[in-house]
Amino acid sequence: MKVTIDEHSGFCWGVVRTIEIAEQAVADNDNNSVYILGEIIHNPKEVERLEKKGLKTIYHNDLPNLKGTNSKVLIRAHGEPPSTYSLAKELGVELIDATCPLVTALQNRVKKFYNEGYQIVIFGKPQHPEVIGLRGVCNDECVVIQTPEEALEKVDFSRKTLFISQTTMDKHLFEKIRSILQTRVKELYAYDNYKEQLVVKDTLCRAVTGREEHLRKFASENDVLIFVAGRNSSNGKSLFKICIETNPKSYFIEEVEELQPEWFKNARNVGITGATSTPRWYMEEVKNAIEKISLEK
Ligand code: SF4
Repeated sequence: MKVTIDEHSGFCWGVVRTIEIAEQAVADNDNNSVYILGEIIHNPKEVERLEKKGLKTIYHNDLPNLKGTNSKVLIRAHGEPPSTYSLAKELGVELIDATCPLVTALQNRVKKFYNEGYQIVIFGKPQHPEVIGLRGVCNDECVVIQTPEEALEKVDFSRKTLFISQTTMDKHLFEKIRSILQTRVKELYAYDNYKEQLVVKDTLCRAVTGREEHLRKFASENDVLIFVAGRNSSNGKSLFKICIETNPKSYFIEEVEELQPEWFKNARNVGITGATSTPRWYMEEVKNAIEKISLEK
């Protein structure tokens, strides 16, 4: 049985950057603990590895306890709303900003259009940390939608609108909603005015959408596909959907212990892939475990 790790899988550059900043921050702090606001990525294995080095995960409720402790708190790739920055300032807590530059650019875009009076429509999950940050930069005066039905129900078509997306959402659904919004606006406004009325910016991250085509190919080339990711990873869920649509023998695991020997019965090729938050070193462990199962058969 041949076991191959997808060469396009592993951390996206934004996550690599955040992890490097975190490791550097711990080293610069004489190996004293550095805190991070929320899990650095939705992957328990990588969280555990970094915690051993001194990166401690805390949550927003814990911030007031750091008052007067000279603590350093890292902001992860998803970004934070302005209220987090003001609270840290008030408490005298030093923030190390590791927000992904693409997320910062998206926040700035939302802020600009909001200040110009546009209605902000976000295709995303309302409680996803990146969306909480985006909601924060427009004082939560925005519409968050996840389906075409919600778009038609919640968007105020009498207002000039900016339509953007959380960076890790599904591209096909984004396009579908874009087309529904454009059709409605075209019905309501003269041709020359509709583009002004509805500004659409495709803010999906290419580190995620660019992987879709390759992933379909990789999933179809293997008899069995093992998808490794944290169960809370939004990006993991959308990439796994592509795998299972292409190859029904695709299995999602978070832990190596979840592998089932019967999945590999009669398989000649097994592929291993993962989300943009799945560490390469953990996929190597999964590969070793599958090879062991194949020897025991
Ligand atoms: S998926 Fe894209 S936006 Fe998100 S952290 Fe990675 S590079 Fe940045």
